[in-house]
Amino acid sequence: MTTVTAPEAGFYRGPLGTLWYAFGERRRPLVLAVVARAAASVVMGIPVAVAAWCVDAVRTGSMTSHAALMASAVVAGSVAVQYVLWFVANRLAWVNTFHAVGEGRIGALRHVQHLPVGTVTARGTGDLGAVLTADYEQVAVYTHHGLMNLVGGAALPVAGTVALGFVDPLLALVVTASVLAAVPVFRWVNHTFVQQSLDRADALAEAGGRIVEYVQGIATARSYDQVGPRLDWYRQAVARMREVNDRLAVRITPLAYVSIGTVFLGVPLILAVTGYAWLGGHLDGWSVVVFLVVVLRIYAPLVSVAVEAEGLRLTDAALRRIAHVRDLPVQAHPASVVARPADGELHLDRVTFGYDQGTPVLHEVSLVAPAGTVTAIVGPSGAGKSTLLSLAARFHDPDSGTVRLGGVPLPDLTRDQLFDAVTVVFQDVYLFAGTIRDNIAFGAPDAKAADVEAVARVAHCHAFITALPDGYDTRIGEGGMTLSGGERQRLSIARALLKNTPVILLDEPTSALDPITERVVQSAVTALARGRTVLVVAHRLSTIAAADQILVMREGRIVQCGRHAELLAEPDGLYFRLWAERERAARWRLDPRS
Ligand code: ADP
Repeated sequence: MTTVTAPEAGFYRGPLGTLWYAFGERRRPLVLAVVARAAASVVMGIPVAVAAWCVDAVRTGSMTSHAALMASAVVAGSVAVQYVLWFVANRLAWVNTFHAVGEGRIGALRHVQHLPVGTVTARGTGDLGAVLTADYEQVAVYTHHGLMNLVGGAALPVAGTVALGFVDPLLALVVTASVLAAVPVFRWVNHTFVQQSLDRADALAEAGGRIVEYVQGIATARSYDQVGPRLDWYRQAVARMREVNDRLAVRITPLAYVSIGTVFLGVPLILAVTGYAWLGGHLDGWSVVVFLVVVLRIYAPLVSVAVEAEGLRLTDAALRRIAHVRDLPVQAHPASVVARPADGELHLDRVTFGYDQGTPVLHEVSLVAPAGTVTAIVGPSGAGKSTLLSLAARFHDPDSGTVRLGGVPLPDLTRDQLFDAVTVVFQDVYLFAGTIRDNIAFGAPDAKAADVEAVARVAHCHAFITALPDGYDTRIGEGGMTLSGGERQRLSIARALLKNTPVILLDEPTSALDPITERVVQSAVTALARGRTVLVVAHRLSTIAAADQILVMREGRIVQCGRHAELLAEPDGLYFRLWAERERAARWRLDPRS
């Protein structure tokens, strides 16, 4: 059965097509804004037309004071109308762009929420953050500003050329041909520019991601005297960014001027044609002057069209990056319940999985973790233990084979069913900015204060929480930096207890705790395991020895299975070797002279 769904149609449909698609319900007001902006530009042409008419009236001697007054009134009126149209266009564009981009960001976050967890971690938080912030910002700024200028810049020349067509079709044709001649140059520059802009956005995202990591890991970097090298690591990303930026400036900017220059090649062409027309007696001197003034009014705004078209290229790059995230296949879940797990038994049936195509990390792994029992997974580092746990949580879907919970394949469970059935307790406990109570009640926000306190007592948290200045209402920083490692672990166990699911997937911390804390944490884990199906990547002796079943993994395969005593009775087995190794390490720790 398929476990992922691809979106029916891609998000990207060309720069303007994607904007159109992304604006959804906000299209109508945006179209109105565009129309108002175009109309404002066309109205800008009225003073030019009036001036041309005045010149002609003076030349033919038909100018009267009444006509001059009327001309002034028309110009004043056109300016007023232009301002009203500008105001309407800007207001509509601003308000609706911010709504649409805000909704777009929420839509993107929802999409990310439905991606397999593995996909999100593989993309890197810095990169996703750059898409959600910088790329959407580029789209917002461009739509309410650049796009409006683009439309405004194009409207007057189009209207001017059409008007010119009524006066002199041949010259209007020459203007049109000179503008159209610039189109292929423009498209060629565009192609190069988009690729460079994508590179630039990637470099920017990488640098952003690295700086976040640098700040997050500063304590570790300091204790290992690695602040300098870590800074160099960030510097490398900045250097790459500079290199990409330089390339953009040195290679692309001249190309952009080529496309602007190509448009302006029309001006000498028009000069030549009008010159010939004058020499041939087809145009009189006055008409040539008027004509050239009008033509320059047509070409000048085209510069802003070319400039804003560059913005469109940057926006195109941003839209492609957004589309890349929006098109990542989400995990399929049935919309409503199709089957109910019989119990909390976890069953992996010949599961093969690899992070990269063609290089499996797990090979045909089969196991049964009966309901209400503890299964410990042990093995050397890199054997695939955490990967196996992440498949049981459906953070990834297997390439082949099936993971079942209570007899039901995980893809047949709704999102809520999976949430209600499985809790993952990670090795690195992440605590959110908020109170201790919020953190414990994270998976059960409606829990009563008494329930929160009850689980905190079972997880041996109550004593240290009540010793804090505000007890359960004490605020902890992002990441829970103010609590010790043991306290954070116990808090995460209290959180899991409150969520109260039949299956617990536990990645036991490898970090050493002092013996007293170790005992307290162990007791909390035992309380959590009671009556539940527990799959634990185990590092602690006590967890392993007390497990109902131990799976020994090596190189993505389960090589041994049994209870502690049974496995120790196989002196040729990996478990025996691992155990002997551990005993030696423990002795070394207890008595350095032995
Ligand atoms: P263990 O938990 O036994 O130490 P893991 O399940 O973490 O082993 O890793 C098994 C293999 O998969 C290792 O070779 C590791 O490098 C690789 N691996 C783990 N996580 C990822 C990931 N997110 N992307 C690519 N490879 C990974």
